[in-house]
Amino acid sequence: TSYGFREVPDGQKQGLVNQVFHKVAKRYDIMNDVMSMGMHRVWKDAMISALNPRKEAGYKVLDVAGGTGDIAFRIVEASGRQAHATVLDINGSMLGVGAERAEKKKLSANLTFVEANAEELPFEAGSFDAYTIAFGIRNVPRIDAALSEAYRVLKRGGRLLVLEFSEVDMPLLDKVYDAWSFNAIPQFGKAITGDAEPYQYLVESIRKFPNQENFAAMIRQAGFSRVTFTNYTGGIAALHSGWKL
Ligand code: SAM
Repeated sequence: TSYGFREVPDGQKQGLVNQVFHKVAKRYDIMNDVMSMGMHRVWKDAMISALNPRKEAGYKVLDVAGGTGDIAFRIVEASGRQAHATVLDINGSMLGVGAERAEKKKLSANLTFVEANAEELPFEAGSFDAYTIAFGIRNVPRIDAALSEAYRVLKRGGRLLVLEFSEVDMPLLDKVYDAWSFNAIPQFGKAITGDAEPYQYLVESIRKFPNQENFAAMIRQAGFSRVTFTNYTGGIAALHSGWKL
């Protein structure tokens, strides 16, 4: 489907994505609330319940595309401040905001911030009990590379959880959602950062991302077992789960 937005060649995607998040880093958290009407908090909480992190000091989670830390903070809190979370992101500006927030929440002792690419993780095989990524994988140019890296760095018995925008499967909601995302989101982006185009790109990236079934197939392809998904809010977002067995 064409929504009248120009194609972004593969080689330029990462650069464009980096520009967007560098620009919005300081306003990212407020933008999230505005653009999802607060829903991202509900979806993130549901993701953490699904993970059900162990309340053990040795429990290690890697949160990729972790941005300003929302997922990692929730995991550490849910583990009774026992777990250790590594927040990995390609964007130093987002991580900077995350590290400041962590200080304020007194969570820094349980967190490590790493600037790196999801396609090439700087960790040894079998390092983590869980790998999480929320609203990040659709920004990664080579999704298959990111998924095989996820598989590699997980321990046997480790869990993969991917939260991402997905295909809306409710009549009417899909129309409202289209109107919201193609008009309102770029407008808000423009109002807050002065530039609509990067947001148009992000909205477009949601449309291009594989639907629930197709993404589940990609996760299986990367080697994961018992792959399932759960829709949130009529499929606006979906949580995919897989295990390294
Ligand atoms: N997980 C956070 C959340 O849910 O609030 C942040 C999500 S934000 C929409 C997407 C993040 O993906 C940005 O911080 C961006 O820098 C990061 N990102 C984009 N491409 C990446 C890549 N190739 N490797 C690692 N992180 C990437």
